[in-house]
Amino acid sequence: MKPAAFSYHRAHDVADAVGLLTELAAAGGDPKVIAGGQSLMPMMTFRLARPSALVDLGPLRRVPSMAAISSDGDQLTLGALVTHHAVETAALPDGFGVLSRAMRWVGHLPIRSRGTVAGSLVHGDATAEWCLLALLLDAVVVTEGPGGRREIPAAEMFHGFYATAVEPDEVVVAVRFTRPAPHAALAEFARRHGDFAIVDAAVALDVAGDTVTGGRVVLGGAAPAPVRVAEAEAVLARGGPAGDALFAEVAAAAAAAIDPPDDAQTTAAYRRRLTRTLVADACREAAGGAR
Ligand SMILES: Cc1cc2nc3c(=O)[nH]c(=O)nc-3n(C[C@H](O)[C@H](O)[C@H](O)COP(=O)(O)OP(=O)(O)OC[C@H]3O[C@@H](n4cnc5c(N)ncnc54)[C@H](O)[C@@H]3O)c2cc1C
Repeated sequence: MKPAAFSYHRAHDVADAVGLLTELAAAGGDPKVIAGGQSLMPMMTFRLARPSALVDLGPLRRVPSMAAISSDGDQLTLGALVTHHAVETAALPDGFGVLSRAMRWVGHLPIRSRGTVAGSLVHGDATAEWCLLALLLDAVVVTEGPGGRREIPAAEMFHGFYATAVEPDEVVVAVRFTRPAPHAALAEFARRHGDFAIVDAAVALDVAGDTVTGGRVVLGGAAPAPVRVAEAEAVLARGGPAGDALFAEVAAAAAAAIDPPDDAQTTAAYRRRLTRTLVADACREAAGGAR
């Protein structure tokens, strides 16, 4: 299929993009920004999205902060147009290596070379690796809109099925990760290599010597939006030796806590089973890697 008709506009800087979005909406349209196009174009060709106008952020790659990876103390900032592949191949500061390692799970190389961090977060697929990583590492999504700059903590970002806190007239300019996690991993299962996951699990462990003292567990595919699982995190907070016994308990707590969907892809029971396996796998990998 072909997309429904739309007008096309190139933004030259962030203010220009916000101005175009505001102007086109005021004229009665339903404009959308396009970054890598790796989610929006398929949605448009299947006519699941019919924006009246596209505001292309491509030229903003020349704005240094929009495509830059930078760090300051314990924080890592990615410009909105940083691609999945740029993160996959970057030498990230200590505590953020999980971002690079997780990128191999995102689609295929051509998709990773065009798709952007902000595009993934705004698209808000419940299994998108960036959405899980944002919750795992306390990301803050920075937007510019007609009302100025806004900072959205990851905990307030994901509202449900493909719904996020970013307003239609806002442009994400950067994503700041504020919680380094030297012991972190993401594990997932997809039907075919490069597909979105059926279930994915991201885990960060607080480790002292050989003992786990706390941590975070985030799941995709368990609910309409990515979720932290308090019941599994409570097991980690109780602590214990880093090993299979503890990790099996964390995984069982996660699987018991969720109420996953039964849909055309698979059953709720299978998602629960995958959760159990993947949380344990992610815990093991997180305990092993101190990068
Ligand atoms: C075959 C295939 C497999 C894939 N597999 C995976 C996978 O396994 N995991 C995964 O996470 N993704 C996967 N993707 C999606 C891919 O990661 C996309 O790159 C990503 O979802 C969107 O990024 P984008 O830059 O292409 O955004 P676009 O497609 O350009 O935009 C997506 C949405 O974000 C909005 N948007 C984009 N940038 C901004 C901004 N700066 N400010 C405000 N709004 C913005 C757009 O308006 C649109 O609503 C897959 C895609 C394909 C085609």
